[in-house]
Amino acid sequence: FLTLNHLKKSFGATQVVHDFNMAIDKGEFISFLGPSGCGKTTVLRMVAGFETPSAGSIVVDGKDQTNLKPNQRNIGMVFQAYALFPNMNVFDNVAFGLKIAGMSKADIETRVKEMLSLIHLEHLAERYPYQLSGGQQQRVALARALAPKPQVLLLDEPLSALDAKIRVSLREEIRQIQQKLGITTVFVTHDQEEALSISDRIVVMNAGKADQIGTPFEIYNRPTTRFVASFVGTLN
Ligand code: ATP
Repeated sequence: FLTLNHLKKSFGATQVVHDFNMAIDKGEFISFLGPSGCGKTTVLRMVAGFETPSAGSIVVDGKDQTNLKPNQRNIGMVFQAYALFPNMNVFDNVAFGLKIAGMSKADIETRVKEMLSLIHLEHLAERYPYQLSGGQQQRVALARALAPKPQVLLLDEPLSALDAKIRVSLREEIRQIQQKLGITTVFVTHDQEEALSISDRIVVMNAGKADQIGTPFEIYNRPTTRFVASFVGTLN
């Protein structure tokens, strides 16, 4: 459903993504797991259209999207933190993409309510971002990303700014919502436990390459490289 073919990316003379290949099925939850600087975010930004690949292609549902601008792609994205519009309340934040898409007022009202109910924040529609906890802000960011019914959801370390307890409950909530909607999702994280606990498959990345792609069970129990074994914590 989402295919990344021989993706490469260089910034100046530095190549940060080397021949990245991956075929993601419809409805799959995939994590890109790896240390800081391994290129996870760069791959995600190429899928979103914020970076142009130096080589390779991105195909979604049979259509080549490699050269489309971000707003020409049907993709939702949630960032690390603090990405809500600070001058808009929760309702307007979630409605933003729908207004741009030209949806009618009545339909926007219905969709935003549906989204707020999905994240259990119907009662906070009038609040502004500064009146919300970090976890609530990220749930609103998720609702905003999902409101236009994207084909693919990209999550770039959405939990990393939150404290440990919220991190665990929110990752479970994200997984439940993802399964309920059946949306194809790519989740970037440097946290092994996070990736192992919520993914259908994990891509362990090392220096701009996919070192191993497998289910959490395979990654944990049958690492195929020393890097994967040591990063996932089975080799000391
Ligand atoms: P992190 O978890 O720290 O974000 P990451 O695995 O997501 O790490 P990337 O953000 O993809 O890594 O960055 C990969 C490499 O590319 C890093 O060395 C980074 O410094 C470099 N890089 C990223 N964006 C740019 C840019 N716009 N210009 C130059 N170098 C960049």
